[in-house]
Amino acid sequence: MRTIGLLGGMSWESTVTYYQIVNEVVKERLGGLHSAKCILYSVEFDEIERCQSSGDWARSGEILAQAAQSLERAGADFILICTNTMHKVYDQVQAAVSIPILHIADLTLSALLSRGIRRVALLGTRYTMEQDFYKQRLIDGGMEVLIPSETDRQEINRIIFDELCRGTISPASKATFLRVLEALRAAGAEGAILGCTEIGLLVHQEDTNLPLFDTTFIHARAAAERALEG
Ligand code: GLU
Repeated sequence: MRTIGLLGGMSWESTVTYYQIVNEVVKERLGGLHSAKCILYSVEFDEIERCQSSGDWARSGEILAQAAQSLERAGADFILICTNTMHKVYDQVQAAVSIPILHIADLTLSALLSRGIRRVALLGTRYTMEQDFYKQRLIDGGMEVLIPSETDRQEINRIIFDELCRGTISPASKATFLRVLEALRAAGAEGAILGCTEIGLLVHQEDTNLPLFDTTFIHARAAAERALEG
């Protein structure tokens, strides 16, 4: 079995889910007492968030690059950056190590294409919804990407940072997400990307008829499968 390197802590609330999923997949496949071999490097998220809000992406990239090097030295065979937003610095982090980093948007794109989805809603932080680093990879893969209105983007971003990343799960915020998903479905979305690793803590497939693509689940599951190919 290969060893998974988890670059997490962004936030730790969703890194817990990654740890759970990689182990569940290994248990599902191998049974018994089998579990995933993994190494976790969990960063100080306040430091990363300050870089994000001040626009100092280069500094956040350095922090993640050093963390990735630690994972490589510790014996990881490949790495997951356990957040959608920080794929903004994917190239910088990948350039710092010689092991592969599995890109969350590429895996999500494959999942969408395998379900025949061509027009998708994208929910995530304002960086993920508004900037090109994530969306463009989907567009290049043939996807049409719909994002919420400006007011809804602000509210979703607020819920992510002020509630979900702090472990607060609120019924009112869940209702907001479901309303936004419904508006995007009415605008033609055939599915929705939960493009922030904490959204799955709030919204679940049984809450809506719109097919949901939970990036945490897709990313972690792909890692476990790759580890088992070992
Ligand atoms: N975990 C979130 C994401 O997937 C947001 C936290 C962050 O800014 O990294 O984008």
